[in-house]
Amino acid sequence: MSKYWNELTASLVPYVPGEQPKDQRYIKLNTNENPYPPSPKVIAAIKDATNADLRLYPDPNCDQLRDTLADYYRLSKEQIFVGNGSDEILAFAFQAFFSPNKAILFPDITYTFYPVYANLYGLRYETIPTDDEFNIDARRFCIPNGGIIIPNPNAPTARFMMTEQLKIILDANPDQVVLVDEAYIDFGGDTVATWVTEYPNLLVVQTLSKSRSLAGLRVGMAFGHPDLIEGLNRVKNSFNSYTIDRLALAGAVAAIEDRAYFDETNRKVESTIQWTSEALKSIGFRVIESKANFVFISHPLVTAQEIFHTLKGRGILVRHFNKPRIDQYLRVSIGTDDEMDTFISALKDIVSKH
Ligand SMILES: *Cc1c(COP(=O)(O)O)cnc(C)c1O
Repeated sequence: MSKYWNELTASLVPYVPGEQPKDQRYIKLNTNENPYPPSPKVIAAIKDATNADLRLYPDPNCDQLRDTLADYYRLSKEQIFVGNGSDEILAFAFQAFFSPNKAILFPDITYTFYPVYANLYGLRYETIPTDDEFNIDARRFCIPNGGIIIPNPNAPTARFMMTEQLKIILDANPDQVVLVDEAYIDFGGDTVATWVTEYPNLLVVQTLSKSRSLAGLRVGMAFGHPDLIEGLNRVKNSFNSYTIDRLALAGAVAAIEDRAYFDETNRKVESTIQWTSEALKSIGFRVIESKANFVFISHPLVTAQEIFHTLKGRGILVRHFNKPRIDQYLRVSIGTDDEMDTFISALKDIVSKH
């Protein structure tokens, strides 16, 4: 606390990102980063862009990147916005579209940045309970609200909501923006990106951080009706015209263009998640069915706290959320096959002691 902070700053409860430890090398399964490096073409493109042109501002409209995305997703450039990570786009969307007069709706178990943004922008929110399997019930989102945010697949549960369910929410809320956060969509879920042509109230947000191994580059994208995209641009251009730097622009274009590498790494992640889930079940874990690059697990005999600490002592970091309903769960990002082998062996030891 400082006397120089204004009331808003003093009242904030900031988001706490997963640890990025510097004391030792861990098998890092705690922040849903991709275990594989970015495409070599991305590295080459960034190196190539590391030149004297860095003295110049980047393109504030990100035209080349938006053209590349338009081509890839079969949308028009006017339906596309890019941001410094999808977190930044979420922040702009909260500011641009959600109303302070009515509560925003999102699931009770979800990405913990949503309530943080609501507080930052003075917005009210109401959480809608998920069921015992962490399923989201679309019908419960058909009540008066100031905007809706649905992550699909959800985090940290990894649960995927069938797209017909999203249709129910979109149809019931024509006057509100329904934001679908698809941070993990490339790991086996169906995107609703192309629905933005049909639904003027739909904003779909994606990121290069997970499926394209570029958490360090900070690039996210949003798809929506041109009016929604213009709304995001109004907020962005009232804040910082140059949110995406020259190196990020070059790397992002190369990442989208290299489909073969993207398909190959995603196939590897999906196959690792399959055998890891089976191995976890065979030693007694409850594993929520995952369409993301992480699993959400709990064990009936060993507390999540104990597993977390024992794994950390053995150099394996996972994520534990000390929150109601999920304090007996761990969120484990999918590593390489070798890393997951080590992880499963450690768990076998821990479980066999009970
Ligand atoms: C990782 C994540 C994001 C943020 O991704 P960035 O693009 O790295 O900012 C957004 N939403 C969810 C649900 C996430 O898990």
